[in-house]
Amino acid sequence: MNKIKKYYIIIPMITAILSLIVMVATSYNTKSVNKSYSMFTDDLNSNNISTVVVDSSPKMTVTLNNGDKYSTDNPHTDTLKEKLLLNGIDVKDETNPPLTKTIPASIFVLSLVTLGAMLISKARGGASSVTSMEMQDFSKNKKDALNFNAVAGNEEAKESLMDIVDFLKNPEKYQKYGARMPKGVILYGDPGTGKTLLAKAVAGEAGVPFYALSGSDFVQVYVGVGAARVRNLFKKAKSHGKAVIFIDEIDAIGKARSNGKNGSSNDEKDQTLNALLTEMSGFGQEEGIIVIAATNRLDMLDKALLRPGRFDRHIQVALPDVNAREKILSLHLKNKPHENIDIKDIAKKTIYFSGAKLESLINESAILAAKDNSNSITSAHIESAYSITLAGHEKKERSYLKDEDKLLTSYHEAGHGLVSMLLLPKDKVSKITIIPTTNGAGGYTLTIPEDKNYHRIDYLKNKIKVSLGGRAAEEIIFGKDKVSTGAEGDISQTTDIALKMITEYGMGETLGLIKLSSVGSLYSSYGNPVIDECKKLVDQLYEETLELLRENRDSLDKIALELLEKESLYEDELNKLAI
Ligand code: ADP
Ligand code: ZN
Repeated sequence: MNKIKKYYIIIPMITAILSLIVMVATSYNTKSVNKSYSMFTDDLNSNNISTVVVDSSPKMTVTLNNGDKYSTDNPHTDTLKEKLLLNGIDVKDETNPPLTKTIPASIFVLSLVTLGAMLISKARGGASSVTSMEMQDFSKNKKDALNFNAVAGNEEAKESLMDIVDFLKNPEKYQKYGARMPKGVILYGDPGTGKTLLAKAVAGEAGVPFYALSGSDFVQVYVGVGAARVRNLFKKAKSHGKAVIFIDEIDAIGKARSNGKNGSSNDEKDQTLNALLTEMSGFGQEEGIIVIAATNRLDMLDKALLRPGRFDRHIQVALPDVNAREKILSLHLKNKPHENIDIKDIAKKTIYFSGAKLESLINESAILAAKDNSNSITSAHIESAYSITLAGHEKKERSYLKDEDKLLTSYHEAGHGLVSMLLLPKDKVSKITIIPTTNGAGGYTLTIPEDKNYHRIDYLKNKIKVSLGGRAAEEIIFGKDKVSTGAEGDISQTTDIALKMITEYGMGETLGLIKLSSVGSLYSSYGNPVIDECKKLVDQLYEETLELLRENRDSLDKIALELLEKESLYEDELNKLAI
């Protein structure tokens, strides 16, 4: 609710109080002593009365010649009025209440109703006025517009978003070719990695207005309010023609519905989600509106959101690696006085820091420099700020442990990467990184598998070996009693492939060309021999993987140590190291 509206609420309050005062005052005025009817007839007979006010009430008001007032019983006889008039007494017949009473009374009631209505709409958060909506019109103030230069690192995300910028600039171009551009994009990754910044930069680059709202703003106590807010948001954006609509924390409305724990609030969530989907299918390609949503966890989202025509483009925004950290640090130092700072060194020490955390590190240093009245930020300020930031985020002794973790992750990922490059050269390893992802993996190896309709048995065996490569590398370097839980995902993938080979693809001995799931009730009696065969296959493949890595120990070391240094390695760097 904006400021003016906030003050409006005072108006009915004032009118209610004023009308109440008037009502009390007038009724106080007319209040008078009560006298018996016989005393009234005495006054009547002695000609003491000047006026009598008669209305439909059981009392009438009598005013004497000396100005005194009193009330007495109204006999409700027809003759009374005539008798009074004959005695020269002024008779006021007020069977309808005077305006002096009805006006304040009706104002009072009206004020209360208005006040009540205002309070209810305020409690509902003012469905029509979206509270915390942020709007920046980059189509007008082009100078302040953020662009991709404000986002350091995140090169892959920026590249994907470039298409969207071009689409926003010339939607007609894509329409001409009949290309379907995405209506919705999901940016996913850890908090503080620059998702909001990227969305804003898209609007800035394209020169269109940027509307932002957080998913949690949509979910309210009252059912229907969230949906109304969604419609309002889209209405506002559409009124501008082209626009970027940014919805932060989309999981607040789009979380998968499977575990109906939240009971009643689900109703509201569903309505809001449905309104969002309806709005998204409601605008056409040519309109140039793009909805960008952000979340920490892509895997938590309702599948309905991810279907084609909705949020069908998913872009990962990862924690920065050492290179990206250096760029982010430089960017945030750029407009601050500083001297003799070894940015490369800080970048090395800040593994697992998000962009936001790096920004706060620089900010903290600037505050320290200001406190010192120093001319510029020095490395001493950054050192202190670093300790403050670390102390705030994690225990100090962990930073040593982290180094060993880093080494283990480096060897684990190098193991996957190297086995893949040696055995499956057609599946390109495009990236290896030891920067963790939000779904809990310590690092990951990204391969682009060759596109094929079917796979041969040797391919599947090699695929298993790639999966086992991580654990095998850990065992070779750190010993069998030092292996980690980092291989959990790999092991489940290995089991899946091996089981399918034996029970579905007809590649095993126990079942031969029989498909286990078609055997039905006999299933259980085949269970154990199948597992035995699975284990034998995987054990065998694991031994072969160990051997392969031992033979290529040099390359394994090179990749792992380079990975430790650079944190991420890309295809061409890897190709050089593997030979
Ligand atoms: P998210 O939306 O992913 O939680 P934000 O975009 O809100 O993160 O980032 C918060 C702040 O952190 C930004 O305003 C910016 O100052 C800083 N920041 C984060 N990532 C970057 C980056 N890649 N480059 C420059 N600054 C960044
Ligand atoms: Zn692994």
